[in-house]
Amino acid sequence: MSQKFTKIVATVGPASTSSDVLEGMIREGVNVIRLNFSHGDYETHATTVQRVKDIDKALGTYTALLADMQGPKLRVGMMEDGAELISGSKLTIKVGEGVGNSEVAWTRYDKFAADVNSGEPVLLDDGKLRLRVEESNGIDTVVCVVEHGGILNSRKGLNLPSTAISLPSLTTKDCEDLDFALGLGVDWIGLSFVRSSADVVDLRNRIQAAGSHARIVAKIEKPEAVADLDGIVKCTDAVMIARGDLGVEVPMEQVPMIQKRTIEMCQREGKPVIVATQMMESMIDSIAPSRAEVTDVANAVLDGADAVMLSGETSVGEHPIEVIKAMRLIVTEIEKEPRIYHLFREPETIRPERQVTDAICYNACELAQRVEAKAIVTMTFSGYTAYKVASQRPKATIHVFTGNQSILGQLGLCWGVEAHLYDKMVSTDHTISDVKNILQKEGAVKEGDRVIHVASMPIAEAGMSNMLKVTEI
Ligand code: PEP
Repeated sequence: MSQKFTKIVATVGPASTSSDVLEGMIREGVNVIRLNFSHGDYETHATTVQRVKDIDKALGTYTALLADMQGPKLRVGMMEDGAELISGSKLTIKVGEGVGNSEVAWTRYDKFAADVNSGEPVLLDDGKLRLRVEESNGIDTVVCVVEHGGILNSRKGLNLPSTAISLPSLTTKDCEDLDFALGLGVDWIGLSFVRSSADVVDLRNRIQAAGSHARIVAKIEKPEAVADLDGIVKCTDAVMIARGDLGVEVPMEQVPMIQKRTIEMCQREGKPVIVATQMMESMIDSIAPSRAEVTDVANAVLDGADAVMLSGETSVGEHPIEVIKAMRLIVTEIEKEPRIYHLFREPETIRPERQVTDAICYNACELAQRVEAKAIVTMTFSGYTAYKVASQRPKATIHVFTGNQSILGQLGLCWGVEAHLYDKMVSTDHTISDVKNILQKEGAVKEGDRVIHVASMPIAEAGMSNMLKVTEI
């Protein structure tokens, strides 16, 4: 399998759910398979999960599974073919079901008329069409002025960047999808249109109530989320910069700095962060990406993202395997840049219960740099040390040895981490020599290489990490 620090997330769809394509993508460097619950049926999702598990078994990989909930994504209903909204004219949006035309459109969002206020913008089809609310009857009818018209096709997205939407971040459909996804044993749940840390807490309670260990990816795509970024990053397990909806909900020119600020905040907190959407968009039908796309992926790696994500490119695109290969080539080229490594941010949040572990992780990275170690080995049950070490971006691969099956897949999202199932915690000395042998056999290290070991002593108690050791192969 390809060696790289930055992880690749691939969204699956009709172009990529066959075993052959899934295996090809994993061999080329995919670490996380994203099931988009906005599309696809339960049977297809279940079959995909089983195929990924079978491929992992055959290849010895741990591919993470991310189930992305649709969230309160608003849409218009069916439209007559070729219905054109004319700039300067009026469009009435009604709550309910019907077939729209150039004067009337429908939405199933039943609080639409109650939530919007005069003067607020209404954006359709990813912001390609722009309206402004003129008046609402507060019940079921909203009259809008078309500021920038165009053809409006059926089921296109409807964004309300200035409106306080009263829908919960988990809709009835999401709650059903969540139960189903947790039943499949997915590693990560994507929470769409997060507006505050309370949304994340609500999802966590539901996951815990279901007895699942799945972790949360909070998707940043609403202005409210940007305003509460610090709170959301602190309470989530990972973040996705969902640039598609984000670029409609906030002025598009703000997206690049939101990306950079979010990545920095996540690194400080030791939370994985994904840069998503339109990264290699032209490869949906072309065999090569545009130069601007190559530079976008490169910049995400330079910004310090844990992962870069593909959507339509792998779900409906013509070249799902080639796009992974192209993305891997960009990522590995940029990973030659020394500036992405050795961030050495001293642990900021001094939590008494984590103070020793945080200090050990920080110093493991500094030591790895000084002795030019090829690998940092952490023995962990919760995975905490893996995320902490990774957040310092050491140039040594982080090998995580754990007996906790439920974190093996999750670590697929974490920068620089290779996960290993290991449950023979005999003694510290035995474990250290055993994992060195394993790494040497796998070809991850060779004679003369130095390795940094992070563990807890006594090892059998699986307590807090309190030991740092340098060894040579
Ligand atoms: C996005 O809007 O960028 C995104 C990833 O969300 P989704 O694909 O779920 O609409």
